[in-house]
Parts: sequence; structure tokens; C-alpha cells
Amino acid sequence: MKQLTHFINNQITEAHSLRVGAVFNPATGEQVAEVDLADSAVTEDALVSASNAFTSWSKTSPLLRARVMFKFKVLIEEHRDTLAKLITEQHGKVLSDAQGEITRGLEVVEFASGIPHLLKGEHSLNAGSGVDSHSMMQAVGVCVGITPFNFPVMVPMWMFPVSIACGNTFILKPSEKNPEPALFLAELLRRAGLPDGVFNVVNGDKTLVESLISDSRVEAVSFVGSTPIAEAIYSKASAYGKRCQALGGAKNHMVIMPDAEVEQAVNALMGAAYGSAGERCMAISVAVCIGDETADRVKTKLLKAIETLKIGNGADQMPEPDMGPLVSAEHKDRVMGYIETGVAEGAELVVDGRDLSVVDHEVGYFVGPTLFDHVTKEMKIYQEEIFGPVLAIVRVKDLDAALALVNSHEFGNGTAIFTQNGRASRRYQEEVKVGMVGINVPIPVPMSFHCFGGWKRSIFGPLNMHGPDGVRFYTKMKTVTSRWPKTTDSIAEFSMPTLE
Ligand code: NAD
Repeated sequence: MKQLTHFINNQITEAHSLRVGAVFNPATGEQVAEVDLADSAVTEDALVSASNAFTSWSKTSPLLRARVMFKFKVLIEEHRDTLAKLITEQHGKVLSDAQGEITRGLEVVEFASGIPHLLKGEHSLNAGSGVDSHSMMQAVGVCVGITPFNFPVMVPMWMFPVSIACGNTFILKPSEKNPEPALFLAELLRRAGLPDGVFNVVNGDKTLVESLISDSRVEAVSFVGSTPIAEAIYSKASAYGKRCQALGGAKNHMVIMPDAEVEQAVNALMGAAYGSAGERCMAISVAVCIGDETADRVKTKLLKAIETLKIGNGADQMPEPDMGPLVSAEHKDRVMGYIETGVAEGAELVVDGRDLSVVDHEVGYFVGPTLFDHVTKEMKIYQEEIFGPVLAIVRVKDLDAALALVNSHEFGNGTAIFTQNGRASRRYQEEVKVGMVGINVPIPVPMSFHCFGGWKRSIFGPLNMHGPDGVRFYTKMKTVTSRWPKTTDSIAEFSMPTLE
């Protein structure tokens, strides 16, 4: 079994802590690694290493920092199969999906490689008479990233490439469920020429997170995970005077208008609801059908499509399954519990994924695709994030009712509308209270040069991940006003200077 530790000052540390966590392969239920959970000495080493590295890294030319990013990109491309296998082994998603996650992470590295341009700042000649003004975007200091299990590569890569390229140093605390991909990324950054201490990975749980966000050497905290933890981290980090962006959970609705191409909408729904076993913050978990006729057509086609869905070990290639297991035995129990709740609440269970057994993987954490119809707003299976392969059909009478439903949900991460009607789609994108909207696009994850983030209780803090917001989050703006008057022009002024 693998023994995983931490990556501090450009080296893997010795096993040290008395506390360890177990890492499982969700497809087989076998433990594949043991991970050291950082104690205070390890945490201190990471903080010292990141603080010491900041002085010189923040003064390194952005062009040289960008060159490290270019090399890092090449190294990831060379080693992407190894990285994808690690993701699949410890998360469970199918290999092609793990490859997709790596590509979406790489796009942020590509964005961060343009950092000399992104940090140019602004300049005004003669902002006042004989007075010039320019702004500088300076690195903030030591940044901390706390990331969830569901994207062990992509979500950390929403954060650290931009942060490091901006001149900060970074401490990543990955999910304790699948910590190895982050350690692998750290090694690639070292090989790309990143100086000691600029990027560190420290494994641990709640105790480690508390120490990091309360430490005076940490200036900024980026978090992605469930809403209760996101909210708590945001409050604590803010109380300690740190800037914080904390992205939380989701319940994403897809509105299907009567004029939508049903075949297209159902194909989109299948991937968006059951891909990665529904463990995506942008997964569609609610299909909002306008009118009973639309709902019946969608349901009939979904039923057929679900029958052909292949479920198995994500590492299998002959053929590759469509969907793997859930991440842990506890999470499987939780999802099974929600299915039971849905039945008790009176929703119609059209397809029940609870009895699934995958040959040779009987102890894996599999739950089959599950479909509920006639789900209503009052039900817990509608209100809460299930984070599993469970899709709910909600029937509404028109677009007004669909908008009212989506807008009254506590989460506002992503949403989609499927329609051929430009007017309806235009109205939806303008009036919906959700951060990321797809028009005939089921999972509208913005590209790295745009910003990723939801609304309402799907985010705490004003700045999203990557894109221009990422650069803003990881830099402090300083504005310099300068003038070079002759001594004879210099007089004492006691009122506010204005430009007449
Ligand atoms: P989680 O909230 O349990 O854990 C996220 C991180 O927080 C992990 O590193 C974990 O170790 C740490 N953590 C857990 N409990 C903590 C505590 N009490 N104090 C401090 N730190 C703590 O989330 P998860 O189960 O790993 O991930 C799934 C969740 O993440 C889902 O809710 C999903 O919607 C959300 N998510 C959101 C986005 C987004 O962009 N909005 C993206 C991916 C995942």
C-alpha cells in the first residue's frame, strides 16, 4: 500500500504524523494508500517554506513565472495518462472523464501563462495637470487552497496556476479522499523549475484547515466544497482579516421547453445527470419540463437511454463504462438514503439504482442511475444537493413557473435551458438568478479566460475562480499618483485638490 505524505519546499516529506487517513479505490472498495494527516510541526514547515519563498518569487519577472507555467503544461501533457489513472483510482470516474478534467485544468495553466499581459495594470497620463497615475497589481502573499474530492486535479488548478503566476506562494490542502494527484502535480511543478517553497501540498482534515486559515502569515483563502463548510470558512477567514473566495454546493436545473429537440435534450441530460456518477457541482439534478406532454416525452426517452447506460470500474477500457462508482461507502449510504426519502415523500421512483451489483466489483460503491418523476418543491430530494446519479423531473406549466422555481432555490451555481425559441432563451438568461447559464448547453462551465462561480448560497465572496476575477483575487491593487513640480510651483494646500 502507498504511503502518502506532504510536499514542502520542493520535496516529499518523511512520514511523520501520528494521525493517518485511508484512501480507497471506490470501484473495488480496497484501500490503496494511507495518507499522513499533518500535525502542527508539518503545518509550520509549510508556512515557513511558503513565507520564505514569497520574498524572491513575488519579485521574479512575470515573464519568468510564465515560463515555469509553459514547462508545467508540457510536463502535464507528457504525464497525463499517469495522472488520469491516479484520478480514476482514487475518485472512481471513468478514464476519459479524468482526461477531460486534466484538460480543463490545463486550460487554466494556459491562461496563467499570459500573466505578463494580465498584470500590466493601468496608466493615465495627465490624470491631473502635470500629474500621472498608474496602478500596480502586486502579489498578496501566502495563499491557501482547500479543495473537494470530486475534481482532484481541475479544482486545485482553478487556483494555484493563477496564484503562483501572480507572484504568490501557495499551500494546497487537497481532499483527504484522493490526495495523490495533487502530490503528483507538485512534483511536475518542481521539474518545471518552480523554486523551493512556492508550491506546497499539505494533507489533512479540519484541524489543518483551522490552523491554516487562522495563521497570520496567510493572506488569502480559496475554498471549493460543500455549502456549510464554504460558509464557515468564509466567515472565519474574513474574521481573521483575510480575503476569501468560497464556492459551495449546487442543485442545477435544466429547463426543457415544449419546442426543444427532445432527443438532444435527453442526450444532454444523460451526460449531465449521470456523468461522473452525478458527483459534479455542475451536474444537472433537476429536469424542469414545461407541460405534461414535454415531461412524458422526456421521461420515455430517458427510460430507454438509462437502459443502455454502462456502469463499471472507471479504469476499464474494453469497453469503457459511462459511469463509475461513488467516492466512498459513506457517500453511497447517503445517496441511498435520499432515494428512500424520495419514495417516502411520494415522488414516483421511475428507475431505482439501489439494487445495482457490478460483476467482480460487488464491494465497490456503486449506485445505478436513478430517476424520479413528479418531484415537487417541498420535497427534500428537490431541496438538497444529493451529489449522486439521481435525477428529478419537476413538471411546471410555463416559463414563468420555471423561472420562479429556479430563482427560489437556495443554490444558484449552474443552469441550462433547452429550446429553439430565441426569445425564451433571452428572457431566461436575463432573469435567472444563477451564475452560469447554458443555452442548449447542459454543463456551462466557463473557459479559463472567463470566470467560474455561482450565485446565492453556491458562493461566498465577491470574486469567482480564474479569468479576470482570479487575477483580481490573487493581486492587490496599488495606485500611484506622481508629479514633478518645480520648487517655485510648490505651495501648501489645505483644501481638497480638485481639477478646475
Ligand atoms: P467538503 O465540503 O466535505 O470538503 C471540501 C474540503 O473541505 C476538503 O478538503 C475537506 O477536507 C475540507 N473540510 C471538510 N470538512 C471541513 C471542516 N469542518 N472544516 C474545514 N475543512 C473541512 O466537500 P466534498 O465532499 O469534498 O466535495 C463535494 C462538494 O463540493 C459538493 O457540495 C459540491 O457541490 C461542491 N463543489 C462545488 C464546486 C463549485 O464550484 N461550486 C466545485 C466542486 C465541488
